[in-house]
Amino acid sequence: MDQTQQLVAMTLAAALGIVATLAILRRQRRALEPPRESPFAASTEGEKRCPKCGMGNLWMGDHCISCGAKLPG
Ligand SMILES: [Zn+2]
Repeated sequence: MDQTQQLVAMTLAAALGIVATLAILRRQRRALEPPRESPFAASTEGEKRCPKCGMGNLWMGDHCISCGAKLPG
């Protein structure tokens, strides 16, 4: 193996390493992204979800026990 071939081999190895690193970083960034759905569940059986703070309230409650906002329904 002469020097030119060595240089080509090293350049290819370096390029491969960079591509692999970028692929790993991209995968990690995607894993860190928050889920696209709302952080508050829309509705749960037997309770009302506060539209303002997301607190679960009893179904017969008129106002949020956490922030006092009026609950729908
Ligand atoms: Zn609330």
